[in-house]
Amino acid sequence: MNLLLVEDDPQIVEALSMSLARLGYRVDHMPQASADLPERVADADAVILDVGLPGDDGFAVCRTIRRHSSIPIIMLTARSDDIDTVAGLEAGADDYVVKPVSPRVLDARIKAVLRRQAPAPVVVPDPLATIGSGLRVDRRAAEVTRDGVALNLSPTEKRLLFALSDHSGQVLSREQLLELAWNQDFLGDSRLVDNAVQRLRGKIDGDGADSHIETVRGFGYRFRAIP
Ligand code: CA
Repeated sequence: MNLLLVEDDPQIVEALSMSLARLGYRVDHMPQASADLPERVADADAVILDVGLPGDDGFAVCRTIRRHSSIPIIMLTARSDDIDTVAGLEAGADDYVVKPVSPRVLDARIKAVLRRQAPAPVVVPDPLATIGSGLRVDRRAAEVTRDGVALNLSPTEKRLLFALSDHSGQVLSREQLLELAWNQDFLGDSRLVDNAVQRLRGKIDGDGADSHIETVRGFGYRFRAIP
């Protein structure tokens, strides 16, 4: 079980890391939200998030995580009054623990939140799917057509479009797209993804229409079906 602990107080970090490790957790720590937050969240099973952080506070970080992930989030709050806790739950946290934190209580809350979590929906790609504005994806023939006319996409551009449209509405990071559309152990440059997305947009988006592929700053790209 991997935990991502976002906490700026070194004493709390040291105490919690030790006791959580003793309870069998692997703890990844960040003192505040940084640019690699999505990757670190993706590697974790749950996030323990302090409210009082330098820079973006815990509520803002929680909302940021919620834009791309449904990972369980437990907030650490310094106060026992209701303001923090309600705000935390509104920001999308699953639970909260009041400081000073008892590792046993935290352990119980983590387990409870993980039990409540519904299993992630399995994506079953539709082999023949219409994805909007006349675009049609035929996975079996590895062909993409607009109004019945085949579009001239490279194999990489097709795989990229399949990966994005299979996860329609969901933000995929450049690293996830490298894995899905290039290959597993390819240590690619994320600019490769940016360039391929640009080319793909030029080929699949209609003139003057909104793009099927939305840039989500700081995170990656999201496919949206356009009616
Ligand atoms: Ca703090």
